[in-house]
Amino acid sequence: MTKNDFMREAIAISIANVDNGGGPFGAVIVKNNEIIARGANRVTADNDPTAHAEVSAIRKAAEKLGTFDLSGCEIYTSCEPCPMCLGAIYWARLDKMYYANTKTDAKNIGFDDSFIYDELDLKPADRHLPSETLLHDEAIKAFEKWENKCDKTEY
Ligand SMILES: [Zn+2]
Repeated sequence: MTKNDFMREAIAISIANVDNGGGPFGAVIVKNNEIIARGANRVTADNDPTAHAEVSAIRKAAEKLGTFDLSGCEIYTSCEPCPMCLGAIYWARLDKMYYANTKTDAKNIGFDDSFIYDELDLKPADRHLPSETLLHDEAIKAFEKWENKCDKTEY
């Protein structure tokens, strides 16, 4: 299979998903030239705001491989990822990402995530999402406990 074949599979998922109650997004994860996981956008179908195609594919790939570390894998997504999925792709340590539609294409049909990218550049106090710090001295205890834990799984 070629890169284009893998992307065509992600695109086919995105197209089929429109008739299947989801958004027009699909993704596949490939390891050793083989598709190990597929994901489709199921936000409205499952009432899950995090059920983007890339996150869904990452969850399935990690479950299949039995690891949170997807090094050695590549993701093919039918559209340039939103900030959440881009973050998930970094956290999963995927080797490479390929995308077909751009975030501008997505914006043109009503899927505009540029405001989140814009928010990331702002100081917390200047963002649209109101946020404030609470109980820092109580919460830090979990971090202290983690620091002192001898048998932790680092990631
Ligand atoms: Zn996303």
